[in-house]
Amino acid sequence: MIIAKKTLRLILGDQLNINHSWFKTVDDSITYLLMEIRSETDYAQHHIQKVIGFFAAMQNFASELQKLHHQVIYIKLNDENNLQSFDKNCNALISTHNFTHFEYQLPDEYRVDEHLKSFVSKLDISSSVVDSQHFYSTRNELRDLFAGKKIYLMETFYRQMRKKHDVLVVDGDKPLNGKWNFEEFNRQKLPKQHKPIQPLIFSNDVSEIEAEILKANVKTIGTVNSKWFLWPINRVQSLELLDFFVEYCLPLFGTFQDAMAPREWSIYHSRLSFSMNIKLLSPQEVVNKAIEKYKENPEAIEFHQLEGFVRQIIGWREYMRGIYWLKMPEYATLNYFEHTEKLPQWFWTGNTKMNCLKDAIDQSLEFAYAHHIQRLMVTGNFALLAGIHPDEVDAWYLGIYIDAIEWVEITNTRGMSQFADGGIVGTKPYVSSASYINKMSSYCTGCHYDKNKKTGDKACPFNSLYWNFYDKHESKLSKNPRIGMMYNVWHKMLPETKTELLEQAEYYIKHINEL
Ligand SMILES: Cc1cc2nc3c(=O)[nH]c(=O)nc-3n(C[C@H](O)[C@H](O)[C@H](O)COP(=O)(O)OP(=O)(O)OC[C@H]3O[C@@H](n4cnc5c(N)ncnc54)[C@H](O)[C@@H]3O)c2cc1C
Ligand code: SF4
Repeated sequence: MIIAKKTLRLILGDQLNINHSWFKTVDDSITYLLMEIRSETDYAQHHIQKVIGFFAAMQNFASELQKLHHQVIYIKLNDENNLQSFDKNCNALISTHNFTHFEYQLPDEYRVDEHLKSFVSKLDISSSVVDSQHFYSTRNELRDLFAGKKIYLMETFYRQMRKKHDVLVVDGDKPLNGKWNFEEFNRQKLPKQHKPIQPLIFSNDVSEIEAEILKANVKTIGTVNSKWFLWPINRVQSLELLDFFVEYCLPLFGTFQDAMAPREWSIYHSRLSFSMNIKLLSPQEVVNKAIEKYKENPEAIEFHQLEGFVRQIIGWREYMRGIYWLKMPEYATLNYFEHTEKLPQWFWTGNTKMNCLKDAIDQSLEFAYAHHIQRLMVTGNFALLAGIHPDEVDAWYLGIYIDAIEWVEITNTRGMSQFADGGIVGTKPYVSSASYINKMSSYCTGCHYDKNKKTGDKACPFNSLYWNFYDKHESKLSKNPRIGMMYNVWHKMLPETKTELLEQAEYYIKHINEL
């Protein structure tokens, strides 16, 4: 007897790539499976907007596939037959529907990759895995590029990617306009009277999804207006956001990339990370669109704005993925400074007198978003200076942001922001006193704390914590050529000044929940 081949293809919640070769032809012997499951809602305490965003986009993607006449099974969170994990649901469907073959796309997360590898190893039907066809680079491309090397410079990787994919390159291997890096033109503060563009937001009614999440008692953080869900939840909206970005934000993207201002929650940032991370948009189409816009109107978009943006995607985003696959699972255990403190309570409420932190946390709870420099130089900077355990910091970042998927969250948090990897991603810790925050924002004006005071009543906590951090980790940092200068300054301070600073820092760490 010949048994007809019946294939089950699993689509993960972050694999909503309609241009994947899987969907090029319609085949009745193939069934696509998407599922909303507790293993995914519960592996971190996610922001409510993140859970809703994923489910809404998955439901829309399933409908799109059905419209194209593909066969789809969609398991909802509260469905009676939902066994709440990938392996259990797949096993149940394979036996009830007599599937003869199972396929999946390479997951981006180590946890899910291991889970599915273990699942297929126990299957008694055949299985195969295909690429997700999303990234510029393969999982192991960074590993191969840096084979035998101890230092993994993002700049080296970025240039290689530009050359390989012929992006802003002339004569095969030379950078367009003579330089690879235009950072000196970027990173300015917002001028006093400058009002950034208001972000393009959507008004999706996702109240039914919210009700299902509440019914299931999924523990979440943050708030949502589910009648007016502002994030893009399908490809059409994602493309609209991309168009908005290249038209209105790209012309000032680089200039104000590091700027911060109270209640200005996205400045000129693209907010495309969610759409890209769940693959509604490909990095190639985002980069190509930006280049196309620049070519159409080079007077309106200076080259350094474009290069600054391309660098984030072809450089940082692909680089972080490469580091993740090179260093996991050990990466998730690294704690270079052996930090042990707990995250202050106010990271979950925004209830702090520190203006910069209050604003960054409040907007994270309200929008499930903060832009890069808020994540790095406000919340991340504080957590590192205060000696918070990287597990605590990771759990917070993995939960709170709509774009947080481990491959890009952990490398940024544990690596770039907390230097817990001892310098794999960054060449020095990103720490600062109040002076950097004041330079790049207007937060310090009107803050309860005084940016200029290092010790005493109302002294800005960043100031003493900063010197305390360098003092505590001198044996690990003093030989770093990018830091040596700070130790010269520290060593020249009067002993009583140093003692006062260290005592102030100790007081703040002891009373961290009251800051
Ligand atoms: C502590 C910390 C945690 C972070 N966690 C995440 C995360 O969970 N998910 C995530 O996607 N990004 C994360 N980032 C990187 C970056 O902050 C976000 O990608 C960016 O803020 C998303 O907003 P945007 O789309 O408006 O970005 P834009 O500023 O408009 O940048 C354009 C795109 O470049 C890419 N990009 C920029 N910087 C980085 C970077 N450092 N690493 C990888 N890609 C980058 C993103 O895809 C982004 O959409 C984190 C950064 C820090 C410092
Ligand atoms: S004074 Fe200190 S705490 Fe207040 S906004 Fe400035 S840097 Fe932040």
